[in-house]
Amino acid sequence: MPDDSPSAADGGRPLRVAVVGAGPAGIYTAEALTRRAPVPVTVDLLDRLPTPFGLVRHGIAPDHLKMRAIRETLHRALDDPGVRFVGNVEVGTDITLDDLRAHVDAVVYTYGAALDRPLSIDGEDLPGSLAATDLVAWYCGHPDADRARVEDALAGVRRAVVVGVGNVALDVARVLARTPEELEHTDMPQHVLDALAAKRVEEVTVLGRRGPAQASFTTKELDELAELAGATVLVDPADLPGEDEPRPADRLVARNVDVLRGFAAHTAEPGHPRVRLRFYRRPVRLLGDERVTGLEVERTTVDADGRAAGTGEYEVLPTDLVVRSVGYRGQGLPGLPVDQRSGTVPNEDGRVLREGAPSTGEYVAGWIKRGPTGVVGTNKHDARETVAALLADAEAGVIVPHGDRDDLVRTLRARGAEPVLLDDWRAIDAAEVALGATRGRARTTMHERESLLAAVRAAAGR
Ligand code: NAP
Repeated sequence: MPDDSPSAADGGRPLRVAVVGAGPAGIYTAEALTRRAPVPVTVDLLDRLPTPFGLVRHGIAPDHLKMRAIRETLHRALDDPGVRFVGNVEVGTDITLDDLRAHVDAVVYTYGAALDRPLSIDGEDLPGSLAATDLVAWYCGHPDADRARVEDALAGVRRAVVVGVGNVALDVARVLARTPEELEHTDMPQHVLDALAAKRVEEVTVLGRRGPAQASFTTKELDELAELAGATVLVDPADLPGEDEPRPADRLVARNVDVLRGFAAHTAEPGHPRVRLRFYRRPVRLLGDERVTGLEVERTTVDADGRAAGTGEYEVLPTDLVVRSVGYRGQGLPGLPVDQRSGTVPNEDGRVLREGAPSTGEYVAGWIKRGPTGVVGTNKHDARETVAALLADAEAGVIVPHGDRDDLVRTLRARGAEPVLLDDWRAIDAAEVALGATRGRARTTMHERESLLAAVRAAAGR
């Protein structure tokens, strides 16, 4: 727990760092700061949600149980006495960036890239058109998910098109194609399980604007589609390289093409749901008056520069639901600039740049630093690079403990905020396990901020 006890750092007290965002990037940053620094460091790990783990809780698909289990490992960093989890605090609302910076010696922004990228085509705002971020937030039980909009879009869906061929698109297609029995053992909120059990999806099309060689999904995730209990995976052989063409030089591409060839040998079974992977088609506009009824696409080829080039040949894919899964983008915090094109905070090796020059005591790690790429573990290396820059600046005297300040949590409470600390999170954790047990499940995610806070208050006797 951060305090003002004397220490070796600058002969006074530990270096105090605030980390904004308690997802994997923030937790790895806190871990690197407390375990690798040559001087004592204390970390306040802030999150706007009352829960830690960011995309590990609200992004990794709930049916990826092994991947989600990484939260057990991440929890160890939260248990470190030098780290204080401070949830339910929004920087920019509960405390300004300037105030936060005044409370600590350095701030590391690790709040990720929460926004979706639009397709910017006609019809995108029709009911029945969703961003993958909407659907993922909903099925993971994110408190800010727009439940009514997602459930309205899903009601009565028979055919769905997922635009994009990344791992998120595969997550979405898989969850839509799963049987209720396959989802029962996840920690999805009960209303999500109920809504998914009620759907009668006959076909999910996953659409790539370029070819299989340019797809960004990974082989393991692609291969996993074959294990779907209730759906057949199909690929049009015409979308694949000819059997007589040389094996792709890129090993990832070669492995993906091998898996896709296996899918191309499948045949559709009458009355059995299908997941169809289609390539060389780019979305042109969503069709429908009251809600989505189809997606118009243009056939493409891949030009010499690897870009999708339109052929002028169009077709309509009838569908009730279009989910765009074309990447995430980050946004600034009030008082923190973001490059609109890349959706990242300008930085050099993790040092935030303001007007092109490093800003004293401000750092960045994770997706808001490098963009929405990589797996959870990628953030470990990324966080270490940023922490190395921060510690080098501390060593060089660029950042120094600047006097005694009020404790951050005390300040937040005095301003009417309700910070959720580690023991409070433990109460939420226990409440979710207890909720799951009522239905014979290991855990049920609580999806309302008020229920999460009620669990905290009940445990604290408030
Ligand atoms: P992504 O890997 O960047 O994929 C985005 C997809 O959208 C690409 O296929 C891209 O095609 C396509 N796209 C972009 N703009 C488009 C447009 N206007 N029209 C049609 N298609 C368009 O992003 P992601 O799937 O959101 O994943 C984000 C990161 O999280 C990735 O690093 C991913 O591996 C990771 N992740 C990992 C897992 C896992 O390990 N299981 C699960 C989920 C996510 P082009 O290539 O043609 O631009």
